[in-house]
Amino acid sequence: MFSLATDAAPGRPNEDFVIASADLAVVVDGAGIPFGGCHHGVAWYARQLGVRTMAALVASPDVPLVDGLAAGIAAVAALHVDTCDLTNPGTPCAAVGVLRVGPDRVDALALSDVSVVVDLDTGPEVTCDLSIEEISGTEPAAVAGMRFGTPEHANALAALVARQTATRNRPDGWWVAAADPAAAQYARTASYPIDALVRATVFSDGATRPVDQMEIYRWPEFLDLLEKLGPAGLIAHVRSLEAADPHGDSYPRTKRHDDASLAQLMLDKPLINRRS
Ligand SMILES: [Zn+2]
Repeated sequence: MFSLATDAAPGRPNEDFVIASADLAVVVDGAGIPFGGCHHGVAWYARQLGVRTMAALVASPDVPLVDGLAAGIAAVAALHVDTCDLTNPGTPCAAVGVLRVGPDRVDALALSDVSVVVDLDTGPEVTCDLSIEEISGTEPAAVAGMRFGTPEHANALAALVARQTATRNRPDGWWVAAADPAAAQYARTASYPIDALVRATVFSDGATRPVDQMEIYRWPEFLDLLEKLGPAGLIAHVRSLEAADPHGDSYPRTKRHDDASLAQLMLDKPLINRRS
């Protein structure tokens, strides 16, 4: 079973989406220009992609996760190819993380900057693709140095998003789920023996900022904190860290808040192994 939580950045619609069955979790972090070519918007895209990817992987539990994600992307594109301009560079896109627990192994997939953290008896393994940061060069750091809410910050953030939009889903750029199912082939994947599994969780990047952007915790500590606080409690802790540093003085970051979501695997061996 999974325990889930999702929380919108204060004052904004939630562009994250999380869905799970007993042995499969999908976390989607929607992005893109709010209505770039698509009148449905980013939140709609994130919801649809989560549901359609879940449907594909539940219907065919043995297919590679990449194939399930490709089917999900194709199904969403089919929903609005006739009403929206899916060739618009601002069309909605999303980072996707998937965790699947099988009788013998656990499978992880990350397309873009969602983190699938599988803690093994040898320590945590993180599946995540940070190509978006490499392609963005020094711009995120420049944005993070500015005060939130100022015109300078808004302009720098817009320039960063424009650069990310121009380089997305290109061989020399970074890959994310959008309208072309071929993007799924660029996801990072990993599989581990079930016997080595200690715990596992899928996080959107708004939930991992205390580890990556803020560098307050290392993964083992952060996973311990999740066990103690639970998914909603951990996100509340992220919000309290952000609120205590409202201008990013202590912890420079591109945005004060971000949508935050996670799906924590609740290890219950008899239930998880029921398919075997
Ligand atoms: Zn649309």
